[in-house]
Amino acid sequence: KIKIDPVHFEDTDAVIGFIINIENVTEYVKLENMRKEFVANVSHELKTPITSIKGFVETLKMTDNLDNDTKNRFLTIIENEATRLTRLVDDILLLSTIENKTKKKVDKVDLFEIFEEVHEVVNYIAKKKNIKLKYQFENEDIDLWEYSGYVRQILLNIISNAIKYTGENGKVNITQYVKGGNVFIEVQDNGIGIPEEDINRIFERFYRVDKARSRSVGGTGLGLAITKHMVKALNGNIRVESELGVGSKFIIELPFNTELAKKVS
Ligand code: ADP
Repeated sequence: KIKIDPVHFEDTDAVIGFIINIENVTEYVKLENMRKEFVANVSHELKTPITSIKGFVETLKMTDNLDNDTKNRFLTIIENEATRLTRLVDDILLLSTIENKTKKKVDKVDLFEIFEEVHEVVNYIAKKKNIKLKYQFENEDIDLWEYSGYVRQILLNIISNAIKYTGENGKVNITQYVKGGNVFIEVQDNGIGIPEEDINRIFERFYRVDKARSRSVGGTGLGLAITKHMVKALNGNIRVESELGVGSKFIIELPFNTELAKKVS
């Protein structure tokens, strides 16, 4: 789609040239490339566990005298790969529903109550690594307008990442404060940190600093892309500050005034 606009001599009808607008083309090509890359990534991510499942099932079928330990080990691998597939499909579907422009259900929610719910889930994972979650709230009476489940999902993703990418006995501090009609939520960990060259890319779909590590902690590489989309849909902002080997801080900013209610509904 190339747009060609005539250039007139002053206010007359005389055409003295044309402006060819190729910006639309570059934007179109960029989106098309992103779409192609996404499809390629999805196929790759789905094929890897399927290949693995097929391989182990084949071995189990072909080998008669496998000892019980080996058999169980293979079955556990198959189970884990199936879990991974489920997670991937769930995340891909979630991402496409957020991008879907159809009307979503708008809810008024109590932020403190959402934190209490999220805590139940993340504390369970934190305990396994003896990680302490510390909360500091400036204001416990914040009501937010949101699309159902978004704030819960945003908090779950960011806090569970902080736990995932922090070693045993680490600390995760969650701070909440209000500034200029927005509520700020900061999630700070003292984990592995993010290299400077990767920091601008971690919100991209399937971008992972360390694929092997992400895979072993159950990551799909879609969590932050989902989070960013949700924050944007609520007219908020998310950014990250991080130092390799020291830790990371994710800062989420969400409007909670009535203006948002008008915008999202
Ligand atoms: P994943 O499923 O791999 O965790 P995400 O989209 O949630 O995918 O995150 C993308 C990548 O960003 C992760 O693979 C990891 O490399 C990096 N990352 C996210 N959160 C943190 C954190 N708190 N500390 C260090 N690295 C992080």
